[in-house]
Amino acid sequence: MNVNKIEAPDANISYADAIDYWTGIPATVDGVLGGFGHTTLPKTDVKGSIAFLRRISRFYPEFEESGKRLGTRGCDVGAGIGRVTRDVLSKFCSKIDLVEPVVPFANQIRIELEHKKVLDKLGDVRQIGMQDFTPEPEKYWLIWCQWCLGQLKDAHLIEFLRRCKLGLQKDGLIFVKENNTSTLMDEFDNTDSSVTRADQSFRRIFNEAGLELLEAEVQQGLPQGLYPVRSYALRPKRDS
Ligand code: SAH
Repeated sequence: MNVNKIEAPDANISYADAIDYWTGIPATVDGVLGGFGHTTLPKTDVKGSIAFLRRISRFYPEFEESGKRLGTRGCDVGAGIGRVTRDVLSKFCSKIDLVEPVVPFANQIRIELEHKKVLDKLGDVRQIGMQDFTPEPEKYWLIWCQWCLGQLKDAHLIEFLRRCKLGLQKDGLIFVKENNTSTLMDEFDNTDSSVTRADQSFRRIFNEAGLELLEAEVQQGLPQGLYPVRSYALRPKRDS
């Protein structure tokens, strides 16, 4: 009997429990932000993401060039009600596809975009989980994954990122913006059946998925008491 075996935190994840949890949450900014919708979090997050995207465009002109040459179609993964598309991606992309498995959230996307007068940016809304999503080959200039990758088990996350890699147009990039634990350990969260990963865990997973980390940046100015939030810009490794 192997009594000393410690289960990896991601072994506890249940995709069905996660969907049940999120389906019971109001389809609002406050809902998708875990009750922080009325704090400085949304504005700070959006400003930080826009600055990060601009910085990456400046330092990696091939990314910007790629958009000019091949188009700026984006994909917003685990999109919730379309907050990131509405406030960030609509400023950079000509069209955005959104992946969101929870029905009330997916239904809210159109309303949110219409409200901010960016409905013309709406591409396809795919009502499925990331674990079942395969982007069309070379379709996207950028793929943005925020506050959702913790819902996937490590092995599925690696496979998902590998599929995303194939979904990028030449010189396109994957962006990840997620909570990090403040330790070296990942932590299971029973509430939404997710794991919060250490920065080191993300870096290992990116590497295993054949992605090279271009830049990572900690989001500044968030309310006290939250996990550190890190943005990562990733491109396919040259040799994979
Ligand atoms: N990225 C959005 C929403 C964050 S809330 C934002 O920043 O505003 C987390 C989102 O992940 C919810 O919309 C939830 O429904 C979604 N989610 C949960 N499990 C998922 C899965 N397996 N695949 C894709 N999205 C998932």
